Amino acid sequence: MNRIAPNAFGTGRRAVVIGAGFGGLALAIRLQAAGISTTLLERRDKPGGRAYVYEDEGFTFDAGPTVITDPSALEELFEVAGRPMADYVELLPVAPFYRLAWEDGVRFDYADDQEHLDRQIEALNPKDVEGYRRFLAYSKDVFREGYEKLGTVPFLNFRDMVRAGPQLVRLEAYRSVYSKVAQFIEDDHLRQAFSFHSLLVGGNPFATSSIYALIHALERRWGVFFPRGGTGALVNGLVRLFTDLGGRIETSADVAEIVVEDDKAKAVKLADGRRFEADLVASNADVVHTYDKLLGRTARGAKYAGALKRKRFSMSLFVIYFGLKTHRPDIAHHTVCFGPRYRPLIDEIFRGTELATDFSLYLHNPCVTDPSLAPDGMGSFYVLSPVPHLGQADIDWSVEGPRYRDRIFDYLEEHYIPGLKADLVTSRTFTPNDFTTELNAHLGSAFSLEPILTQSAWFRPHNRDDAIPNLYIVGAGTHPGAGVPGVVGSAKATAGLMIADAASMRVSA
Ligand SMILES: Cc1cc2nc3c(=O)[nH]c(=O)nc-3n(C[C@H](O)[C@H](O)[C@H](O)COP(=O)(O)OP(=O)(O)OC[C@H]3O[C@@H](n4cnc5c(N)ncnc54)[C@H](O)[C@@H]3O)c2cc1C
Repeated sequence: MNRIAPNAFGTGRRAVVIGAGFGGLALAIRLQAAGISTTLLERRDKPGGRAYVYEDEGFTFDAGPTVITDPSALEELFEVAGRPMADYVELLPVAPFYRLAWEDGVRFDYADDQEHLDRQIEALNPKDVEGYRRFLAYSKDVFREGYEKLGTVPFLNFRDMVRAGPQLVRLEAYRSVYSKVAQFIEDDHLRQAFSFHSLLVGGNPFATSSIYALIHALERRWGVFFPRGGTGALVNGLVRLFTDLGGRIETSADVAEIVVEDDKAKAVKLADGRRFEADLVASNADVVHTYDKLLGRTARGAKYAGALKRKRFSMSLFVIYFGLKTHRPDIAHHTVCFGPRYRPLIDEIFRGTELATDFSLYLHNPCVTDPSLAPDGMGSFYVLSPVPHLGQADIDWSVEGPRYRDRIFDYLEEHYIPGLKADLVTSRTFTPNDFTTELNAHLGSAFSLEPILTQSAWFRPHNRDDAIPNLYIVGAGTHPGAGVPGVVGSAKATAGLMIADAASMRVSA
């Protein structure tokens, strides 16, 4: 692993990181640990970004990421900071990783237990036991090439892409995740079970490069975890690590402009007029927002924002957070509730202009792993439904939201949580509009640019801007992309560039 010794470089340099999502936090820690005096500016009242936390009537609701994978990427942040992770956060293993459920009654517990997996696969289609082994071998191969070798390397030049080309061709990266899974596996339930993962990072399994099949190997390699106290406890642990290193974080700090003079980023200005001078500026805010609004006064910002707006964006999500007066230990921590249609529904989510009449849902029941997230004997849940983004379907969510919530509650009550409505203590929703207003997300996309091959690696916005040499991007909009391991990996790629650039600034100063 590429370790950075604390305080090795950059002493005397100041960095500003805009946005305290996982990407911004991980970058700020790496910069501060390398001796660059770093200020993290977050517009909301709490850090975490998509991993915000709501607290209602004694229930704790993690707003976003709940499936925590690749703990080594998180451990590395504590290692570069020279602090034991155990002093800040505890990761609890989740078993099974997920329960996959269909309306015809089929259940598949996906866990790191080969014999149990084989038995379940055999019950659905004996030939797929061998097919699954070949799929796993393929997934491990992609994982080595796509994640271990290239996941934290910044693709700044087309040459880098050309160099990766032969491997991408060998792995048939031009094929979709689903088509690759279908090459190995026959049963329809199993094809869904092993291809849905790209949805977790905003990718359509029928369009996203088969490189994203690596998520399967990544989960098998380390497992699936949940921080004690919820994902919010992991965010708080990272914030504490950053401030213990001497970093400064300001919440309710809405950045209005990145000030550029002589083609260099000089400072960051807040909407309330405050100004932060900087030698290096990184944005963890949405990429379109960064170029369109924060750099809108510059020719570079206006031009690149125009190009970005022509790209394809991931779907949005409709999320309901709800507290029940009963604990439901029979419901797994993570359940994927497949609806009656797979491909046609996904087509409608990614291409349709209306809300589909059916849905596939992800149901989160964290109290089976950590009961502290709800009052004694009660249950804290969330359910999410992937929906089209705002540029695609012109839905008035202020009208449709309450109706959609009722439809989802009826469905859950019928299929998964009997007595849900009678047991309901509290609920709140987060719609595509909220992604726009709360997170500045372009078109309300939940995962930024859609992870298709032609928008990945060099084709994604670069970790360092092409025209402004001390301006950097971190988070879902840059390489490698969305998901907690993705954005924490992007922070490693971006930090490597910033620390090297800061060191050369020091030499030339
Ligand atoms: C409901 C949901 C569930 C998910 N589940 C999972 C999961 O289980 N596992 C997984 O790995 N991934 C999951 N993801 C994806 C993952 O959460 C995201 O890809 C990742 O957290 C994005 O991190 P980020 O660093 O890009 O920043 P974000 O979390 O997007 O944070 C960006 C920050 O920038 C701030 N900001 C924006 N504009 C400004 C401004 N002008 N001034 C100051 N600050 C600004 C925002 O307020 C925000 O805090 C999920 C996403 C969602 C929405």
